[in-house]
Amino acid sequence: MSPACTATYLCDCKIHVILREADTNPAKFGVSTYSVPRSLFRKIAARDGGCRFPGCNRPVRFTDAHHIHHWQHGGATDYRNLLLLCSRHHHYVHQQRLIVKLEPNGTAHFTWHHGQHRHTKPRGAPPTRPRIPSSG
Ligand SMILES: [Zn+2]
Ligand SMILES: [Zn+2]
Repeated sequence: MSPACTATYLCDCKIHVILREADTNPAKFGVSTYSVPRSLFRKIAARDGGCRFPGCNRPVRFTDAHHIHHWQHGGATDYRNLLLLCSRHHHYVHQQRLIVKLEPNGTAHFTWHHGQHRHTKPRGAPPTRPRIPSSG
């Protein structure tokens, strides 16, 4: 158990387990202490289209919903506070303590503590026109 894994757990390890189960087994959805509505995850998935980390193209089914502002610190479980990251980059963001920002237009900014900065555009539908991603 690495410190990064613990940090990720504190963020939303529970969420992504639920969301993955929700994809295959909706009946199990909602067993956690808090939850992201399935419809909300669909909106985020439609916007992000997969991992939002620069240079990564992992599809939605390999991603977690990362809380940009930790829910434990008052971050809301809503569209503008959630970003899809694959598990590798989710751990990386926590491990490196990257500063993540999400603009209203969906652009995500990643800032490293030594000053490097990258940003990515959502690959899915624009936020103003959410759609249900087709399965498969
Ligand atoms: Zn996270
Ligand atoms: Zn990734």
